Amino acid sequence: MDAPARRGYDRSAMAEAETDPAAEPIAPEPTKPVATAGPPAAEAGAILTIDLAALTANWRMLASRVTPSECGAVVKADGYGCGIAPVSAALARAGCRTFFVADLAEARAARGVLPDQAIYVLNGLMPGTAPAFAEIGARPVIGSLVELAEWDAFCAASGWRGGAALHVDTGMNRLGISPEEAVALAPRVRTGNHGITLLMSHLVAAQTPEHPLNATQIALFRELRAHYRGIASSLANSSGIFLPSGAHGDLVRPGAALYGINPTPGRPNPMRPVVRLQARIVHVRTVPRGATVGYDATWTARRPSRIAVAALGYADGFPRALSASDERPGAEAIVAGRRCPLAGRISMDLLAIDITRLPDDVGRRGDLATLIGDGIDLDRVGESAGTIGYEVLARLGRRYHRAYLGEA
Ligand SMILES: *Cc1c(COP(=O)(O)O)cnc(C)c1O
Repeated sequence: MDAPARRGYDRSAMAEAETDPAAEPIAPEPTKPVATAGPPAAEAGAILTIDLAALTANWRMLASRVTPSECGAVVKADGYGCGIAPVSAALARAGCRTFFVADLAEARAARGVLPDQAIYVLNGLMPGTAPAFAEIGARPVIGSLVELAEWDAFCAASGWRGGAALHVDTGMNRLGISPEEAVALAPRVRTGNHGITLLMSHLVAAQTPEHPLNATQIALFRELRAHYRGIASSLANSSGIFLPSGAHGDLVRPGAALYGINPTPGRPNPMRPVVRLQARIVHVRTVPRGATVGYDATWTARRPSRIAVAALGYADGFPRALSASDERPGAEAIVAGRRCPLAGRISMDLLAIDITRLPDDVGRRGDLATLIGDGIDLDRVGESAGTIGYEVLARLGRRYHRAYLGEA
């Protein structure tokens, strides 16, 4: 973790629940933070709560779904914005043995909490970095013949046998050797000591089950596997796990679904939400009818209005595209248990919430407004912002107080 985690019961993060007896959980829910990061909750503009119990429950659900295949975990992009160290450690405790990151820096961060687990680096081998892979026991996902040659030369010279994945492109046209190259290489890889421990490919359109590329890629990958008998195979990301059949291989690589993103868009989300984002209300003001709120005066009060200004902005990763104007509603926030619309442009560090519909005595300075979670769906937030939940997660900011709720 970049910020040291303080262990123990953080009273400030629990203050809200303590003031409202009705919010007391009935079942022994995992509500006490096991770790916190970032500034203290009272000083932070916004609070990000990451439910590690939900994360590990999601992993276990996927793992049981794919049995007897192995379920790995993708923790790239700082664990999809949730914190690579606490996320990886929790998944390892749940039994996950194989992790995927994007680059060496992430592999190092993951290795810090994963002493024995396999760590694959999806972006592959950058020139001259093979010794760094060996140093931390990370495995490159080899995506071209040039990379394979460089890795081979390193393994031959050093005797390193730490493993690597061979990525075959079956339709993405991003990384990976061609299927023809893979077939030609197969006898050499199986007999020679290349140290290839995983044959991998990546689905293009797994979130759209009826997309014809799924069947094409699954069939092609099945053929390739036959050439690489004895070497584990991996094809499915989160959505690939939910395809009708045949996409699992020996090891699946879910990322998004672990963090609560719906792997089956258009159908009910089978995953538990993991992330809650709350912003602190720093000021409440009343504005007269006809007054505008925020930059560029795009939102006009249609009646005398109460406006809560909260300390969260686009610098924190909350999309500016969710601003509200007279023409178009923006995001919603939950204040005192009720949904309220945003008012005006989201600025760098602040946003405004129209809390006129709340009783006069609720929605006060110091209260928290929920922007993601508590029923505000991450995928919907992404969609309304013209993007996907993945991007909203991956851009989550650095200024939050982070509270990690423990595994049950
Ligand atoms: C990011 C990534 C995954 C995980 O995808 P999700 O859709 O988040 O489950 C799996 N494999 C590769 C190669 C990836 O780049």
